[in-house]
Amino acid sequence: MPPRRIIILGSTGSIGTSTLGVVAHLNHLHARGEYPDRFDVVGLAAGQNHQLLAQQAARFNCSNTACSRSDSSATFRGPTAAFDLVRAVDCDLVMAAIVGSAGLPATLAAVELGRDVALANKETLVAAGALVIPAAVRSGSRLLPVDSEHSGVWQALMGIKPTPLAPPLKAPDAVRRVTLTASGGPFRTWSPEQIRRATREEALRHPTWTMGAKVTIDSASLMNKALELIEAHWLFELPPEKLGAVIHPQSIVHAIVELNDASVLAQLACPDMRTPIQAALTFPRRAEGAAPRLDLASLSRLEFETPDPARFPALALADLVMHRGESSGAILNAANEEAVAAFLDPARDLAFHRIPELAREALETLPIGPLRDLSDLAEAESLARDLIRRRAAGVHVGVR
Ligand code: NDP
Repeated sequence: MPPRRIIILGSTGSIGTSTLGVVAHLNHLHARGEYPDRFDVVGLAAGQNHQLLAQQAARFNCSNTACSRSDSSATFRGPTAAFDLVRAVDCDLVMAAIVGSAGLPATLAAVELGRDVALANKETLVAAGALVIPAAVRSGSRLLPVDSEHSGVWQALMGIKPTPLAPPLKAPDAVRRVTLTASGGPFRTWSPEQIRRATREEALRHPTWTMGAKVTIDSASLMNKALELIEAHWLFELPPEKLGAVIHPQSIVHAIVELNDASVLAQLACPDMRTPIQAALTFPRRAEGAAPRLDLASLSRLEFETPDPARFPALALADLVMHRGESSGAILNAANEEAVAAFLDPARDLAFHRIPELAREALETLPIGPLRDLSDLAEAESLARDLIRRRAAGVHVGVR
């Protein structure tokens, strides 16, 4: 059988390095005759970390690399390097794990080329679902969810007849409600006053997952869950009324699918991204996993609680975007990215609670219009970034 050729976008990040670990694991199984496919890494793309990129290329014998730094020795260099790599190098599967809207052009290119896309970069669908989903339908590209919650929904949906295959897909009518779980992040039990004063270090200390900085901050504000609800809306063609989120501090149950006959299907696994990454890479097969196994008897409890909208106002923004549609997702995503950058930047020191406030302000004050192409998207994003930069500039240390 020919090897399955994979390009990994964002290879130097948390998901990227885990993906390379899964590839090594699957190739090890293949060498022992325990898995039919061998994976051939034919492209790697990174942002700034050109040294790690070069090490990965050497280790995986990969001759095509892309780096957004113009001064690197990668095959493709500069701001469009990842996009150029995807367009130039033939492959079967693209792992989309660049963080933020920077990942969109290369991911959309992969979709337009009809590649299978293992989708970690949730910002792509939040900002541009209206462009990406029709492009996937046209090209036949399969969007294989990597986010653990969406992987969970996808796996649960496979248990319903007629069995849906890979997204984009319409969840069967028998699905009454899909609930995504959220760990609640480091501020789950904090008072609103404590959350107002949260520092970068506190927000970056996630209780159950080890992830890149942006997604860790999004998890602390629950903006991550808002983005994920919008992502699920696009992947599974689910209306906002059928989507919800629940806090589940143990991060063992990832998604819950309730059916009209009152059955509930849930997907459980230890919080380890290698499991959903592997499910996407091996689809429709299954292989021995490298992540720790779930031992239910040793878990003392599985808890669920309703998120508090007063302490986590970001969550409500998902409904706003799913109802408004058009460019509202691009505005929310860009506003959030800018606000998170201002929170993480010691020179700007935006207060934590201002992130959802500013994102809401962008959604409520900026014009929302049709999203016909990438130039509409760029315009919406630029208005949102500009607004947040100006608003964040007025907030300095001591004026929290
Ligand atoms: P990281 O911050 O750890 O990694 C981001 C990756 O993107 C790095 O490889 C970085 O390169 C690369 N990158 C950034 N900008 C560019 C650019 N302009 N061109 C090319 N590459 C770029 O993030 P994560 O791995 O945590 O997250 C990646 C995506 O996956 C996010 O969208 C996140 O929401 C999603 N996700 C992450 C999960 C997790 O557990 N980490 C879980 C579910 C989803 P470099 O480091 O070299 O600058």
